[in-house]
Amino acid sequence: MHEYDRKNLFIDGQWVAPGGTDTIEVIDPATETVIGSVPDGTASDVDAAVAAARRAFDPLITVAERRDRLARVITAMEKRLPDIAETITRELGAPVRIAQGVQTQVPLAVARGFADVLETFEFEERVDNSLILREPYGVVAAITPWNYPLYQVVAKVLPAIAAGCPVVLKPSNEAPLSVFELIEAVDEAGLPPGVVNLVSGSGRVVGERMAEHPDVDLVSFTGSTAVGRRVAELAAQSVTKVALELGGKSANVILDGGDLATAVKVGVGNAFLNSGQTCMAWTRMLVPENRYAEALGLIEAAAARYTVGDPFDPATRIGPSASASQFATVRGFIERAQRDGARLVIGGAEKIRDVGYYVAPTVFADVDPDSELGQEEVFGPVLAVIPYRDEDDALRIANGTAYGLSGAVWAENLDRAVAFARRVQTGQLDLNGGSYNPLAPFGGYKKSGIGRELGRAGFEEFLQTKSLQLPVPPTARVTVFR
Ligand code: NAP
Repeated sequence: MHEYDRKNLFIDGQWVAPGGTDTIEVIDPATETVIGSVPDGTASDVDAAVAAARRAFDPLITVAERRDRLARVITAMEKRLPDIAETITRELGAPVRIAQGVQTQVPLAVARGFADVLETFEFEERVDNSLILREPYGVVAAITPWNYPLYQVVAKVLPAIAAGCPVVLKPSNEAPLSVFELIEAVDEAGLPPGVVNLVSGSGRVVGERMAEHPDVDLVSFTGSTAVGRRVAELAAQSVTKVALELGGKSANVILDGGDLATAVKVGVGNAFLNSGQTCMAWTRMLVPENRYAEALGLIEAAAARYTVGDPFDPATRIGPSASASQFATVRGFIERAQRDGARLVIGGAEKIRDVGYYVAPTVFADVDPDSELGQEEVFGPVLAVIPYRDEDDALRIANGTAYGLSGAVWAENLDRAVAFARRVQTGQLDLNGGSYNPLAPFGGYKKSGIGRELGRAGFEEFLQTKSLQLPVPPTARVTVFR
């Protein structure tokens, strides 16, 4: 039985009443009805949570204790995954196959990945006469978006626990109910008070207080580039470290000799995954001019197979956009792309169902790489197809946005794909259908972010480095003048 009317925040190991009385409604985007609410937290709730986290911080925490905490959280989370998947379908409109698959199974794989990292990580290293210590960074403020609500939280809270960092978490208002269910699992896992704290509320109040808080040591933010910039500005006032996972406009580059049919099939699926609400989606497909007509035929046929409908129907591949505002944003992009001269191949801005924020899977051809659709993140099921002349032209277009989060390269052999990938300014690329790896570092070049998440690199974001210089025999001394 789900509890969707949440009255309390989780602070200092207790479910406590918030400082204010305001609440935030959660809307099912498939039915446009209110399904629950969460507290609209206040700055004083953040202060209480940060104080609890500070009390819980033990820089000398043992690795055995961290392993134990992590294992207990993973066990408790795993039991809840079917419930959490159902909630993600309700609050986000994610089709059941997505909610039960990528939305919950990837977070589990990511969580287990952090447990594996912790098994082998060397926290101490000798470099000549220095002993290098890797210590927990301190109190973490984690601010997450709505598109993969469980994953986004797991990618921050689990490595923080593994590193020995207490966390204050603010989930997105659009999909907070699944996060409350995760925190119930954390509560069940019986961590010491203050190790994980949950404060729901608006970004403007709760998020900003977290980012500017002088007693926070690290702000880990995932969301839009505009808000990430604001978070970094606020954190800079206290010289607080920030890790930012931001937007993307990733290119799926199909080189001349690449397997066009597979590249199109995988590429369309990637662009439409989670109804196009994926930061790492390949939203630009770059196709050689001499195969453009053939590619467009394949793309249209592939896109037509993406059934839109009730997210609880197992046949549905695309659910509604997550919210009314996202729905309006996506439709606005489609309308402006048509005005900018892009050619609509399939889909469009029309409302396709009477109820629910449904956008048809949409493909535009002849997209000018410098137009809005060629440059800006839509965060909906909208694919821009761009022809290119030669490999240098493809590289120029691939690198020609402010972002650099993800992408793909398809070539006649792996050597050629790797050679091209070396020149792409982006944090992650799949080559010739290479599959997702939850242990590979993930993060952005350029305006797609600062820092890395996942695996060893993601774990290290939560560690501070200390060097202890040890005495050496006088004969071995090197004098350095500064
Ligand atoms: P968003 O509007 O930037 O919000 C992200 C989070 O920040 C939410 O919890 C939001 O709270 C909070 N927030 C809003 N204003 C704030 C402020 N002034 N100070 C502090 N926090 C604030 O992003 P979104 O719409 O939730 O998510 C979509 C965006 O996230 C896309 O751009 C996407 O590319 C990006 N994203 C990036 C990654 C990645 O790993 N690189 C992954 C997923 C998504 P509210 O609930 O009040 O809005």
